[in-house]
Amino acid sequence: SRAFNFSAGPATLPEAVLRQAQAEMLEWDGAGASIVELSHRGPEFMEVARQAEADLRTLMSIPDDYAVLFLAGGATAQQALLALNFAAPGQTVDYVVTGHWGKTAIKQARPYVNVNIAADGEAGGFRDIPARADWRLSKDAAYVHYTANETIHGVEFRDIPDVDNAPLFADFSSSIASEPLDVSRFGVIYGGAQKNLGPVGVTVVIVRRDLLERAGQPRADIFSYASHAANDSMLNTPPTWNWYLAGLVFKWMLAQGGVEEFARRNARKSKLLYDTIDGSGGFYRNEIAPGVRSRMNVPFFLHDPALDAAFLKDAKAAGLISLKGHRVLGGMRASIYNTMPEEGVQALAAFMRQFQQAHG
Ligand code: PLP
Repeated sequence: SRAFNFSAGPATLPEAVLRQAQAEMLEWDGAGASIVELSHRGPEFMEVARQAEADLRTLMSIPDDYAVLFLAGGATAQQALLALNFAAPGQTVDYVVTGHWGKTAIKQARPYVNVNIAADGEAGGFRDIPARADWRLSKDAAYVHYTANETIHGVEFRDIPDVDNAPLFADFSSSIASEPLDVSRFGVIYGGAQKNLGPVGVTVVIVRRDLLERAGQPRADIFSYASHAANDSMLNTPPTWNWYLAGLVFKWMLAQGGVEEFARRNARKSKLLYDTIDGSGGFYRNEIAPGVRSRMNVPFFLHDPALDAAFLKDAKAAGLISLKGHRVLGGMRASIYNTMPEEGVQALAAFMRQFQQAHG
């Protein structure tokens, strides 16, 4: 009875993970209570936390000189915390804006730093990524921030940009662990887990340890990444259930073949969807420059918006849900993260062809 769920986040979880969580929900391994009812400082949860971090390190080949934090607050909170932890008051930070989430990153940091918009794709409707040669980076920037995959606009960097003026910070909320990544090219990688990594409520922050020595700005201890790192992300009570579920997803991903395998699946899934759109003779359209089309979020429009409601209704009847586009763009959006099986995308492509035949 489970539909193929194309939600942008919280997103679909592997059925095997949900079944395991269901089985373990009532009692944890002879502990007499659920893992969600036990102290985060007790041996049971400490082991869950340790294993999850170890598995994420294996999955993403995270070098030892990077700390891995499991925090609450979502990616949005990190966008403010990055400024508080890694920039001096009023220091310049370079932002590359390629969609909605690049703009929120600036909004969260603006009270604390001098924002330099080094490049901005908005004039072109965020349909392309400004060429690296045109970026205006600052000499004295605390860091350079960009959004690896823009979840709403469907624009994805296909290469890590080369910057040498400051450490590179990236919001990977909607593409983390979707393909092999050279973590050592970054100062910070962060992302809410609710798309490629599992459940909402836990945020992963991967930070090069030397950066934790930066003074940053006056802030409460709870807003200090260095304190979180020194306390193994247990400065206060962490979101234990979400952390545990994310750990199950990491194990599942490793068993499936790791990021190399997900890179292959994600390439096939996105190609099938873009081929279906491009091959529809204009019935469907995606407006993003082909070289930067997202492998994770595929926004598309029907040639006649009057058909949108019928498309969504018929899709739901065919077991394909959460295809309505974000209100910023309208139209449709299929989010096809690691956890979306290839059969789901095949079913969507077949449905799109049938719908076109019926209404074309
Ligand atoms: N950054 C990106 C790329 C996102 O897709 C999202 C949420 O969809 C956010 C940031 C905001 O994340 P959160 O809701 O976890 O704060």
